[in-house]
Amino acid sequence: MNTPDPTARRDELSANLTAVRERIAAATAAAGRTDEVGLVVVTKFQPFADMRLLAELGVTTMGENRLQEAQGKAAAWDEACAADPELRRPALHMIGHIQSKKTGAVARFADMVESVDSIKVADGLSRGRVRQIEEAGAAPLPCLVQLSLDGDTARGGVSLEEAEALAAHVAAADGLELAGVMVVPPLEGEPAAHFARAAAVWERIRAAHPGAATFSAGMSGDLEDAIAAGSTMVRVGTAILGPRPIP
Ligand SMILES: *Cc1c(COP(=O)(O)O)cnc(C)c1O
Repeated sequence: MNTPDPTARRDELSANLTAVRERIAAATAAAGRTDEVGLVVVTKFQPFADMRLLAELGVTTMGENRLQEAQGKAAAWDEACAADPELRRPALHMIGHIQSKKTGAVARFADMVESVDSIKVADGLSRGRVRQIEEAGAAPLPCLVQLSLDGDTARGGVSLEEAEALAAHVAAADGLELAGVMVVPPLEGEPAAHFARAAAVWERIRAAHPGAATFSAGMSGDLEDAIAAGSTMVRVGTAILGPRPIP
């Protein structure tokens, strides 16, 4: 194995981050928007050392999609921050499918859950976070309802027919805050059309719940289309970190 050169990696991440920030700014301007589009850097499958470099480069929010890996990285942040009080710990977003029996563990470390797609998952997160609030003084957990545009809910997401009821359920759940909507577009079809459909569902949910101000949409390959459709937060992995190592 090659020993990674941290300086070279830092320069590479820095250049990629600048390029992605420029893409976001250009897409925001092209859409005639003056609001800020947030950036979640997706660090799944990538080493903790990269997360540290990203934090030093000013990244404040990172996304993970697998429970065990996310838990391990959250614990690594606990240790790193205990050793170095200057280190700025990023917010960790859970962006992957959650098994309902694992909700308690997610409620312990996540700063946001973007992938709430059933009443069962919402109820489990609610119970887990209420415990964290009582025992550790945690804040309520911001949650996004993940939409499934093709109704293939095995890939994650709730069907559009059920999305508004799930949003209302999350908004009413103890320990949770409904923060908005997330979407991963299906592989088939035009991303722009998918994002437009998701945006329409988000607008309806936001009309009923003004706090649901986040529309998480757009990845490395399609962030321009997502921002044109109104995305307020993009989730970018490979355009910043490069290809993911095979686990
Ligand atoms: C992996 C992943 C991303 C990032 O995808 P890239 O194409 O690497 O930018 C975004 N969102 C979700 C839900 C993911 O699982």
